[in-house]
Amino acid sequence: MGVWALWKLRPPALVYVLLVQVIAVVTAAVVIATTPPPESRALTMFAVLALTAGLVIVGTSVSIHLRHDVRRNPWIVHIAYLAAGILTLPPSLLVLLLLGPALHGVLDVRPELYRWLFTTASTTLAVFAARWVVGWEQPRWEPALLVLAGAVLLLVRAVLVAIGLRLREPAARREEVLGEPIDVLLGVVAVSLGGLIAIAVSSYPAAALLAGPPLALLDLACQLPQWRRSAQRDGKTGLANAVHWERMARVELSRACTRAQPTAVLLLDLDHFKRVNDELGHLAGDTVLAAVALGLRGGVRKEDVVGRFGGEEFVVLLPGADTDVACTVAQRLRLSTASLSVPARDTHGSRRVLDDLTVSIGVATTLRFGYELSDLLVAADAALLAAKSSGRNAVTVA
Ligand code: GH3
Ligand code: MG
Ligand code: MG
Repeated sequence: MGVWALWKLRPPALVYVLLVQVIAVVTAAVVIATTPPPESRALTMFAVLALTAGLVIVGTSVSIHLRHDVRRNPWIVHIAYLAAGILTLPPSLLVLLLLGPALHGVLDVRPELYRWLFTTASTTLAVFAARWVVGWEQPRWEPALLVLAGAVLLLVRAVLVAIGLRLREPAARREEVLGEPIDVLLGVVAVSLGGLIAIAVSSYPAAALLAGPPLALLDLACQLPQWRRSAQRDGKTGLANAVHWERMARVELSRACTRAQPTAVLLLDLDHFKRVNDELGHLAGDTVLAAVALGLRGGVRKEDVVGRFGGEEFVVLLPGADTDVACTVAQRLRLSTASLSVPARDTHGSRRVLDDLTVSIGVATTLRFGYELSDLLVAADAALLAAKSSGRNAVTVA
């Protein structure tokens, strides 16, 4: 795909992406042409910063390749050393430091090269804006200006990129356009680390090398949300996995116990699910699991805890629910599952719609079985078996 994917963009996105890149390239060229030749001290600071950044970029790229991993937010490291460059280097050398992201784009194979180039251009403009705020010729290290420059670096970049993503995909989710909340924290950490590197470099240039390990660690920290998600979420349905669900359920139960509040557990098992797999294939089965999970999540309150218990079994914890409420919710989930129409493809690739799905549900409440999770699950499981025996597509209370 590479850079050619650019031409498949919607016209407004194409114009915007090209415009940002042209402005970035022209500005960089003007900056290089109009900045006087750097002094030797500036060249030394640049050399050490570039060497440190280069080592980190190459090192983390090799490590990512060896682990067959995908970098979640590859920009945080660049923001850190660019922030240091903004505070210490003359503008022409700052432009050269922007070759770091370019080196990274070459090392990490990018499926959509134009996106990398566009983000590099946006970062370039954000770097110039931050430099302008802090003082173009000679950066002034005044606390308020430093904070403002950091904010400008992060915000200008985020806004330029977000506009591009929104134009490219108007229906994109907010998270895809703005990133996750933790990215804001990572950005602030990167800018702060950049400030510390700048202080070190300006008093003793070789000290920048000490920033290598913290930069590599910062890159690793960007993977945290991904690791947390895969440790807590079930990949096929996006629901909490069994271990995470149990952990959350125990917390809710002990809270409910302290407040002497009722709580209910629903154990759900899809009826004759094996038939879906046997008749349409396991991929169609997976599509059904995802659709049911979505229905369950959408069919309960935000504070209710929904999880995938195992194969085609789901669990829901309803804090504050007595027996009547739990039965009402269970019946609602049973009916909404029965009304699902799930488009899927069978083993021959033909489109099919599955609309005869049903679920059996066992209900157990703390009013009868107490606040111990294992007791509630055993009771809900017995009720589920009873629902199956009664002919399926049913709710049974333990
Ligand atoms: P019952 O009404 O008695 O629950 O019948 P059932 O067919 O749903 O129950 P059974 O336990 O015999 O079959 C469960 C099936 O769920 C068997 C297994 O292949 C399937 N299954 C479990 N996990 C997954 C999964 O992740 N994806 C798919 N496609 N199928 C799964
Ligand atoms: Mg089943
Ligand atoms: Mg089962």
